[in-house]
Amino acid sequence: MHTLRSLLSLLFCLLYGLLAAQPMPRAVDPANPTDRPDFYKATLADIDAELRAMTKGTYRQIAESPGGLPLYAVYYGEKEEFHSQANYNSAVAALNPAFYARKDATTKPVIFFLGPVHGQESEGLVGLINLIHIAETGKDYRGRDWTQLQHFFDQFRVVIIPHGNPDGRRRSPYDTFVGLPEDVMTKYGQGTKLDGTPWRWPHAKALHPMVGDVDILGAYYNDNGINMMHDDFFDPMAEETKAILEVAKEEVPDMTVSLHSCSCTPFVIQNSHVPLFMKKRIADFAKGLNDSFIRKGLPNRGGNYSLSLADDDPEFPKASFNLVSALHHATGTMAFTFESPHGTIEDKATYENILDIQLTLY
Ligand SMILES: [Zn+2]
Repeated sequence: MHTLRSLLSLLFCLLYGLLAAQPMPRAVDPANPTDRPDFYKATLADIDAELRAMTKGTYRQIAESPGGLPLYAVYYGEKEEFHSQANYNSAVAALNPAFYARKDATTKPVIFFLGPVHGQESEGLVGLINLIHIAETGKDYRGRDWTQLQHFFDQFRVVIIPHGNPDGRRRSPYDTFVGLPEDVMTKYGQGTKLDGTPWRWPHAKALHPMVGDVDILGAYYNDNGINMMHDDFFDPMAEETKAILEVAKEEVPDMTVSLHSCSCTPFVIQNSHVPLFMKKRIADFAKGLNDSFIRKGLPNRGGNYSLSLADDDPEFPKASFNLVSALHHATGTMAFTFESPHGTIEDKATYENILDIQLTLY
């Protein structure tokens, strides 16, 4: 009996190992880099370890992915009462957003960090795990001191979703693309068609849900083929999207950052469908952030960088109403997308650069 039980538990472990195991890149592609430093915490297991070690913040599961994985939110600082009596757009129609959330100069600012909703973009996850470690200890995982950043946690309410798409992260065979060609990232990020050709950006948004003509399902999507960035916000298809919007509506963040990556120098993407005053705030922030990258000698967009304040294209819808637009219109938050380099051969960022870029943004 004892032996049978041991055998069964061994079988269970093997099966679980197979289910939880990270997929391998195809034989024609380079291996998952093995030079990833210890501070570069890029996996779902790293999230679990960080949550278990937390003593100052709290966390809860806010959704379960179609692949059966938990989506977590982490909280620092006491939540204040905003005496909401109307949803945001109704309050705006009543000519005062305070009917949605009463805030004044004494209200504690609320900052919302939305970790990667695209699974191959692990750079934001690396940054947020280090940020949680800073909140807890004052130091990042390199042992570098960030006490100034830690002090913000005493003054602000900070809400962190370390990863917005655990399915995509689990499906990605790469923990990093540092030193790899951009094409490898594209292949596993946006996936391939049945004939093996990559879907690529922006065509990867032409089929949604991404179901049917799919060989490799890109890490962009959850296991049902949903890209949270372009869910149907009036009737969300993904539980992850619903949970992200719920957290934002509850918390009323003053600022919301959706963390992304590309084979590029770092930059903020303008939120195309928000009022002009909000576009100006985002543009000011983007300029200040780029100046910080220049001062610190980090990859940057050069001295003449600025974001457009232009209105929509008068003739054709060129910019989508995406997740950050939805977050603004659900809550009034200053929501924008941030793109970090991946460290590909083309963008040349290093592991150190990527963590410094993330921490400078925070
Ligand atoms: Zn992305």
